[in-house]
This record gives sequence, C-alpha cells and structure tokens, in this order.
Amino acid sequence: MKYWVILLLVLFSLCLQADITVEYKSGMSAEIIRTTKIDNHEYFNIYELNKAFHSRIQENILDSRLNLNIYNQQIIFLLESSYLKHLSQTYNLGTPIIIQNRKYLIPTSFLTHILPIIFPEKIETTKNKIIATAPEDNSIKRIVIDPGHGGKDPGAIGYSSVFEKDIVLQITKKLANILEDNLDVEVLMTRDCDKFVSLQDRTKYANDQQANLFISIHCNAHRYSKVNGVEVFYLSTAKTDDARAVEALENAVVYKYEGGKEAVKHYDDLSFILADMAQNEHLEESYNLAMKLQANLVETSHSKNRGVKQANFYVLRGAFMPSVLLELGFMTNKQEEKMLKNQNYQEKLAWAIFEGIKDFKYKYDQMR
Ligand SMILES: [Zn+2]
Repeated sequence: MKYWVILLLVLFSLCLQADITVEYKSGMSAEIIRTTKIDNHEYFNIYELNKAFHSRIQENILDSRLNLNIYNQQIIFLLESSYLKHLSQTYNLGTPIIIQNRKYLIPTSFLTHILPIIFPEKIETTKNKIIATAPEDNSIKRIVIDPGHGGKDPGAIGYSSVFEKDIVLQITKKLANILEDNLDVEVLMTRDCDKFVSLQDRTKYANDQQANLFISIHCNAHRYSKVNGVEVFYLSTAKTDDARAVEALENAVVYKYEGGKEAVKHYDDLSFILADMAQNEHLEESYNLAMKLQANLVETSHSKNRGVKQANFYVLRGAFMPSVLLELGFMTNKQEEKMLKNQNYQEKLAWAIFEGIKDFKYKYDQMR
C-alpha cells in the first residue's frame, strides 16, 4: 500500500514538472526545454532556447530589454513586464518575466502561445510539445583570411626593406593550412599571390562568400624604430591617438593606390552609418574574437601586449560577420622584423591565431 502512495507521489511530481519537448519536422533528435513552477505559473530559462532553436540572446540591461534572435527574427522582451515585441506587434505573456540568480525566466506561454503566432509556418504546439522546423545551422563553417596589401601596394616597409605584403601572405598561407587541417572549416583568401586587391573588394568577397569570420592580417610600422608589439583591432571610430595612427596607416592605401582623394571620398560616401550597422550587430563577437586572438598571440610571441583596440578601418567596414584586423608586429623594429621574416616564427604566429579562432568558434558554435 505504502509503495502505491510513493508511486502516486512520484507520478504526481512528474506531472508538475511539465517540461516541453521540441520535436523537429526534419526528424532531428528532439530537445527538452526544462520548465519550473513559481507561484503556480510555469517558466523556462531563456537560455534553454539556444540548444533547441540555435537562438542568440543579448541582454540590454540599460534599456531593461532582452533581445532574442530566433529563426533570424528579432524578438524583444521588455524586462520586468509581461510584454514583448516582434516587428511592430506587441504581445502579452500574461505574467511578467522573472529575473532570478541572473537567469531570465520566461512564462511558458511564450512557447505554447506566442511562438506559433509569430512563426505560423515553422512552429505548431500541442500541450507540452512543440513541433518545429529545424533551426538554421549558424555555426562557423567558412572563414575568409585577408593578407593585407599586395601588388603595387607593399604595405609597411621593414627595417631591412622587407615588404609587409610578402610577410602577411606567408603567414596567411600557413594559417589557412593549419585551419583546414585542424578545424572543420573552409578557408578562403582574398589573395593568394602578390596582387593588388582594393579594400572594398576584400570585404565584398567575404560577404559574397557568406563567410562567418573575416580576419585581416597586417604588420605595423612606426617612425620610432623602438616601438614594438602585437595588437588586434575591431571596427569602430578610433578611440586613442595610437589607434588613429594605425587606422590612418592602413587606410592610406586608398589614397595612395586606389585613386587619391576621389577614392577616399568614395569610401567615406559608403555611408558609414550603414556600414557601421553591418558591423554593429557583430561588435560584441568581433570584440570577443579580438580578445581571444590577442591573448593567444601575446602568449606565443612573447611580444609586447599592445592590447585590443577599436579603430575605423575601411577594410572592416561593411563586413556582415565578426571581423578583426591583426597587427602582428612592427616591420620598422629591427628585432621584430627579423622575427617576422623567420619561417618558424611565422608558423608559431599562425598556430596562435588558429588557437584563438578555435577557442572563439567553440564558444560561438555552442551558442548557435
Ligand atoms: Zn597593413
């Protein structure tokens, strides 16, 4: 008799824990979204959507908003309320969102009632079950590496008159091989020989190829030969004088080799605001990628850590993917130039960049 009571209690508690199963029309194996009951209302942790829908979640604490990207659509939760927005439509969850131990608990009515309205073709629900179209695979599959300069544009000219364009091409080729052999990705290069490619065409190529990452590889120059070290940039208006100096140096290509003032004007006319928006969406990811690359480069090269910086590079503008620009050392520094020419050192740098990309991809793909 006792056992019956226990069994009934177990069954009863299982019923209370009404997790939601997500089944896919494509036959992909199902996912479970765990739910929890608070004051008689059912909630789920919003991060549970990552595994089921490869969604992306962005907290915007200042505006009390939580942005959810699901099936490439943006849904905005207004925190501490029961409202959410999709396009121009507002929806009411019935009960407010709860923030508990840094977790965002969303009423399950979002899954059972609102998602099927927003995505009528993708999502059907029955009690505790969702039948969904499989989420898009947004993992990193294609990487464009961009060796700076080339052809008529030598880039920085080293202490012993070595050209930046040649060093970065050698490093890029090593990196491409390492990536293709050790990471499940396709690698494309904006140039694989000594030819001139305009800055605009480099980003356009990455966009056209629908690359998931864009990595531009450079070496630096400075009028003081003592200056040395590695630094990684991501796009924004340059924040420090130093960053502005590197920006001016790399952007000068346009004036010198792409047609003087006219060409510069053309780049400036490529509405910066629009271009900025293209990168804005990837700002946080570009920053994360830059941090990982910088950490690995410093550790491997033992070079001076010049840090992760923001600058407004023409070559990163308008890229619709996380994008960074690496400055692997100063050609104008005798010691660093010597190292940069060295094949073993180039190989080491390439491995360091690989490790940074691998770390980033691992985290990034998990979120997808
Ligand atoms: Zn350069």
